[in-house]
Amino acid sequence: EALNSILDLKGSIRVFCRVRPFLSSDRKRIREPISTGSEKVLVRLAGSRKEFSLDKILAQEATQEDVFVEVEPILRSALDGHNICILAYGQTGTGKTFTMEGKRDRLGIVPRALKEIFCQASQDSSVSFTFSMSMLEVYMGSLRDLLTPKPSGRTYETAAKSNLNIQTHRNGFVEVEGLTDLNVSDFTQASRLYTKGRHARSTSWTNVNEASSRSHCLTRINIGRSGEAIKGKVEVSKLWMVDLGGSERLLKTGATGQTLDEGKAINLSLSALGDVIAALKRKRGHVPYRQVLAWCWALSFNFSLSLIILNAEIKSVMIIANSKLTQILQDTLGDGSKALMLVHISPCEEDVGETICTLNFAQRVR
Ligand code: ADP
Ligand code: MG
Repeated sequence: EALNSILDLKGSIRVFCRVRPFLSSDRKRIREPISTGSEKVLVRLAGSRKEFSLDKILAQEATQEDVFVEVEPILRSALDGHNICILAYGQTGTGKTFTMEGKRDRLGIVPRALKEIFCQASQDSSVSFTFSMSMLEVYMGSLRDLLTPKPSGRTYETAAKSNLNIQTHRNGFVEVEGLTDLNVSDFTQASRLYTKGRHARSTSWTNVNEASSRSHCLTRINIGRSGEAIKGKVEVSKLWMVDLGGSERLLKTGATGQTLDEGKAINLSLSALGDVIAALKRKRGHVPYRQVLAWCWALSFNFSLSLIILNAEIKSVMIIANSKLTQILQDTLGDGSKALMLVHISPCEEDVGETICTLNFAQRVR
């Protein structure tokens, strides 16, 4: 019991894997390269087999309900005052948005979570809760507020120009300054804002797939708690729910120009995030946010030598990209916080390379 509570104080990260079912648009399947157990994924590649162990596998037939049942306990922790982060990671087309947003009749984690926290909060009479909501998009190192979209559509501002600066307070609390944060008192209000934020996101891109493969979409619920049980003071915790940009490597897809730069910005911000999480898991006293940035810079430099494409401008964009995502999420990945990483993989033969990369990432952060 005592040991458990000590372990509980340290940031905890659980990693689940969801396998997308086959779609009618998938190429005809000859062999199925993926098989799953409750905590293992087996991938067959060119006659060899590679096994990955994770905290939980949600197989192809897992429903949105099955997924949400696994997420529910962490929501309780958010109401208990922990900072929480739920992240969807994976190659484009593997079901990140399906898991987080869902479809009309098969709602995803975010709408279900909104419903659940208001429901649980109303049942707890010892604490009085207040809630507020924010949504933002991170693209190429710039932030965009999704609840007060600029009239000109796809307008991103770099941190230097915009009023969205990320502040880390001495107590470790991270704040995105200037980010719209609207009070919500029930599910209907929250759900209306969520729809508005999603609409703002999709209308600024030529299509929704483009938006979700090139940018990270973050939804935050701030939870204020007060009451006798917590000695009258107000405590604030936050719940981040994040649909990350596509994790696919770029050389394979033959991306060029702008697309390549965007992809590299995403990949590097994801690998920086992976490094920070891996360092936290090793429970070193010091988390190398800055070191990670330096490392990414070096990586991008090496990349540029081999590709002879990059220039100094792009490198600086990537440095900002890396710092933004990890900076924003910093205080939901450290001590006393809980993170849930949902990695998504494709069941298809032609995606096996990406699938292995994703599972390697998953094992590294676990
Ligand atoms: P991503 O956000 O990772 O790019 P999407 O969520 O857009 O991927 O999913 C790609 C397609 O696959 C969509 O048409 C989506 O409806 C479908 N899909 C993904 N996961 C599932 C699932 N678990 N069950 C049914 N359809 C799914
Ligand atoms: Mg998506």
